[in-house]
Amino acid sequence: MSRFWSPVVHTLTPYVPGEQPRERVIKLNTNENPYPPAPGVGKVLREYSTNRLRLYPDPESRALREALAKYYNVAVKQVFVGNGSDEVLAMAFQAFFCQDEPLMMPAITYSFYPVYCQLYEIKYQTVPLKENWQVPLDAFDPRCGGIVFANPNAPTGHGHQRDAIDAFLKRVDQCVVLIDEAYVDFGGESVIPLTTQYPNLLVTGTFSKSRSLAGLRLGFAIGSRELIEGLERVKNSFNSYPIDSLASAAGIAALEDQLHFESCRAKVITTRERIRASLEILGFEVMPSQTNFLLARHPGYDAAFLFTGLRERGVLVRYFNTESLYDFLRISIGTDAEMESFIEALESILH
Ligand SMILES: *Cc1c(COP(=O)(O)O)cnc(C)c1O
Repeated sequence: MSRFWSPVVHTLTPYVPGEQPRERVIKLNTNENPYPPAPGVGKVLREYSTNRLRLYPDPESRALREALAKYYNVAVKQVFVGNGSDEVLAMAFQAFFCQDEPLMMPAITYSFYPVYCQLYEIKYQTVPLKENWQVPLDAFDPRCGGIVFANPNAPTGHGHQRDAIDAFLKRVDQCVVLIDEAYVDFGGESVIPLTTQYPNLLVTGTFSKSRSLAGLRLGFAIGSRELIEGLERVKNSFNSYPIDSLASAAGIAALEDQLHFESCRAKVITTRERIRASLEILGFEVMPSQTNFLLARHPGYDAAFLFTGLRERGVLVRYFNTESLYDFLRISIGTDAEMESFIEALESILH
């Protein structure tokens, strides 16, 4: 507490990311990609002329936006980019959700959303997940101040197909619907093609997970021109140059290597399903997943106990310790060798 802080700062409960350990551990706690980024990214960084760093980057990030527009088959003016999708999300909350009516979100979803609500003093309401832990599309009230959820959802792992979202958007056309597709490349179905049809649909994505570039900080949003213009107004009132020139060049190189992208995501998906089976053999209940993580619980063991045991054996997973998730662990998918060590560590704890 400090008398120098603005009043709202006293009320904040900031987001706590999974830890970035200093010691060498098997790191399965923040959904990073275990495989390196596309080789072209390294080439761009090695060959980058440092003299170019004298200059400010393009404030409109035209080249990166063009590359994304081409990749997703949308117009350049439908694309917004930011310094990680967390930043894009924050700007979207400020641009669209500071309304009289409350924002609606699922009771279990990305825990950063309520943090933005605190920061921008946005009222919000949560709707419980369905019994099978799906986001209850039919429970959202179309007259609210906006709707946000991740699809596939985090940390639950379930994703709705495009048809279901399409039907949902036919019903909900009076408020902005923000769909966070951070995990979509691991088995979900993107609704980016629907953005040309629904002016109230904003889709965010990130280079952090499926493109192995969490350290570079690149995220984006795709939507109608009026939504993108709203985001640009917020961005240009906050930071003219969120994307540095190196990140832009590296991001473009990542988008150009479709083969590398496909091979890495296929490996993650294959490993995920193999580890699901191994966990089930050990007695875990494992949620279906269209992401690069598994959410699992063991009927006979406390999640806190398993988390600590794994930690002692050099394996870091995510333990949430919230009311709805207290008995679950979230396990990011690593390389096959890492996942083997994870399963061995679990076996030694359980026996
Ligand atoms: C990881 C994650 C993000 C943030 O990604 P960055 O682009 O690294 O900021 C956004 N939404 C969800 C649901 C995530 O899991």
